[in-house]
Amino acid sequence: TYVIAEPCVDLLDKACIEECPVDCIYEGDRMLYIHPDECVDCGACEPVCPVEAIYYEDDVPDQWAAYTKANVDFFDEL
Ligand code: SF4
Repeated sequence: TYVIAEPCVDLLDKACIEECPVDCIYEGDRMLYIHPDECVDCGACEPVCPVEAIYYEDDVPDQWAAYTKANVDFFDEL
C-alpha cells in the first residue's frame, strides 16, 4: 500500500484524490489518508502530490515512519 506522510498535514492539496482509480484516498481533519486495504499499489497518486507526501510503504522516510501506522489507525477509528 501507499502511505501519506507529514507534508500533507494542513495542506490537503487533493490532487491525489483525482488520480486514484479506486477512490481509496480519504480526507481527515488535517491530512489525507490512503485506505491500506483498498489501495491497489498503482502508484498514480505519488507523482501528482505537489509536496511529495506519498510513498510506497517500503519507501517511507524514517522520520515519517509513524505515518504508516497513522494511515491504518485512521480507518480503524472510523
Ligand atoms: Fe490510489 Fe493507486 Fe495511490 Fe493506491 S497507489 S492510493 S490505488 S492512486
